[in-house]
Amino acid sequence: MIKNVSVIGAGTMGNGIAHVFAQAGHSVVLIDVAAAQLETALKTIEKNLDRQLAKGTITGPQKEETLRNITMETDIKKGVAAAHLVVEAATEQELLKLEIFKQIDAAAPPDCILATNTSSISVTKIASVTGRPEQVIGMHFMNPVPVMKLVEVINGYATRADVSAAIIGLSEKLGKIPALANDYPGFVANRILMPMINEAIYSLYEGVAGVEAIDTIMKSGMAHPMGPLQLADFIGLDVCLSILNVLHQGLGNPKYAPCPLLANMVASGRKGVKSGEGFYIYTQGSGDLVVSEKFR
Ligand code: NAD
Repeated sequence: MIKNVSVIGAGTMGNGIAHVFAQAGHSVVLIDVAAAQLETALKTIEKNLDRQLAKGTITGPQKEETLRNITMETDIKKGVAAAHLVVEAATEQELLKLEIFKQIDAAAPPDCILATNTSSISVTKIASVTGRPEQVIGMHFMNPVPVMKLVEVINGYATRADVSAAIIGLSEKLGKIPALANDYPGFVANRILMPMINEAIYSLYEGVAGVEAIDTIMKSGMAHPMGPLQLADFIGLDVCLSILNVLHQGLGNPKYAPCPLLANMVASGRKGVKSGEGFYIYTQGSGDLVVSEKFR
């Protein structure tokens, strides 16, 4: 039975993943190399639990129990030593993830399932650096994790059927909707989403329309809850760029080449919500969406 869950990386996704597992009664160890990031993650989890409390979707005692279920750790080896499941949600860089999986494989119990929340990096390649590739799987949560229902479950080439079934069952117990995909670049979610976001950026780059018009057309015309440029800011422009690079290299088709404007924005440190600016400006406390000066 999967009771103890270790989550590696306490950024945008890691804090949400820790939140949903802890709320479902799992003992969670949240691990990050940056101690300050762990503090920020805990504050975010508390804030999100307070929002659920205000909406009446959880009770005060449930909030307290969820927080009690989470411990913090900066040492991966200690953090995964008692895990039944590890969910890796560290920065989207292949070499970093391969290194992390070598460390987890050496320190986690032999029957522990190793999952990655990667948006696009090959699960099969990640699995290949471990001594248990049949127990490695993709568990791709969507952002924001406590709100979004989908978990894209990705079978690596070697993933065992019972491991896949266990992760599908677990996702359902978390109140999520799992959907199974095979391990090819971008899987399903990002293979379809990222070309749309890239095309929206190309439309801006080529002067077809401005930021607000592009987002309005997709929101009001296609019933998307968020326009593609706002969504790109929300996901993180650096994350979008690295996923497009994986699609481009992995599928070898020029249609996936990232727009030069996206590459420039990331190179200049404009990463969207997390850096305070992308296609829009994100000033603390302001609920209004303001287009970046660059695109006015
Ligand atoms: P992020 O940059 O917000 O957070 C990454 C965290 O990993 C940071 O806190 C960093 O300190 C930590 N980290 C880096 N190296 C580490 C190590 N060796 N050990 C432990 N922690 C380490 O990134 P994110 O947006 O949360 O993305 C995390 C993963 O989730 C990526 O694989 C990404 O592709 C995927 N993902 C992201 C989104 C999204 O919308 N942002 C959606 C789905 C999946």
